[in-house]
Amino acid sequence: MHLSIVVPCYNEEKVIAETHRRLVAVLRQGGIDDYELLYVDDGSRDETATILGALQATDPQVRVLLLSRNFGHQIAISAGIEHASGDAVVLIDADLQDPPEVVLEMVQRWREGFDVAYGVRVDRLGETAFKRATAKIFYRALNRFSDTEIPLDVGDFRLMDRAVVDALISMPERARFIRGMVSWVGFKQVAVPYTRAPRFAGETKYPLVKMLRLAVDGLTSFSLVPLRLASWVGILSAGIALLGVIFAIATRLLTDRWVPGWAALFVAVTFFGGIQLLALGVVGEYVGRIYAEAKRRPLYLLRSRLGFESDVPTPRQ
Ligand code: UDP
Ligand code: MG
Repeated sequence: MHLSIVVPCYNEEKVIAETHRRLVAVLRQGGIDDYELLYVDDGSRDETATILGALQATDPQVRVLLLSRNFGHQIAISAGIEHASGDAVVLIDADLQDPPEVVLEMVQRWREGFDVAYGVRVDRLGETAFKRATAKIFYRALNRFSDTEIPLDVGDFRLMDRAVVDALISMPERARFIRGMVSWVGFKQVAVPYTRAPRFAGETKYPLVKMLRLAVDGLTSFSLVPLRLASWVGILSAGIALLGVIFAIATRLLTDRWVPGWAALFVAVTFFGGIQLLALGVVGEYVGRIYAEAKRRPLYLLRSRLGFESDVPTPRQ
């Protein structure tokens, strides 16, 4: 059985050589010889591409995709998945936060007949309390709101059978949230718990803004709850407003006082103005996504590829 290992790399010059060494060692230790290591350079600005080229020149089991610019982690993975030839495909980060040893366990599960073996992070070492807390909240919110059941604390570290890979390739959406898409696909899935190691070297390529983007992508791709939320908040605030009206009229008619003050008016107007803009923003998020889909641009472009039969880039239609 042929195994593909897809490694997305963005400015990872400090870790690639070590990652490659570890992956090869682990595969050898597990007695797996029929494999390809598919590195995807996501438009790195450092020496990553050069290092990958050198690795490919010395190791025929290495293949390299060079994207034309930085397209982002999820798209880099998608490019790798599309070019992988394995009967099973493993996704693993370049920074050794996903321990290569766990791949053997995933392969074991696959041989037992599971189609997807996904890594569940039971612990995260070397990550800031902030990242851990926000990740925790995000995965729980996503799980609660999404129509698809997406397991908690699961990243992209996983093994997928060819059937699942083909299903993923057939999903044309541009906003790609791979871990959610794999859940949507179904098949027989199993969790493989592991402890997320600290980054081997270099720093995270997921600053807060990118993390937020990923979170919004995940939520909007798998849930319509934010859209529906606007209606519920609308009904609720209309209800409160109606109570206010009844109260004001009753006070005027039944007592010799009246509801005083422009302060309440000011607060009400600005508050509901805020809510309306927020709701508009939520709608905008979805409309923006429809726009991106409607443009039907290719998901990514290749600058070149190394170790394939033909080095000519074939952009996805
Ligand atoms: N990555 C990528 N393109 C990007 C950002 C990240 O290919 O635009 C890769 C990166 O090289 C690494 C993986 O995605 O292999 C996960 O990124 P990182 O380790 O920086 O994220 P973190 O583990 O901090 O969430
Ligand atoms: Mg990392």
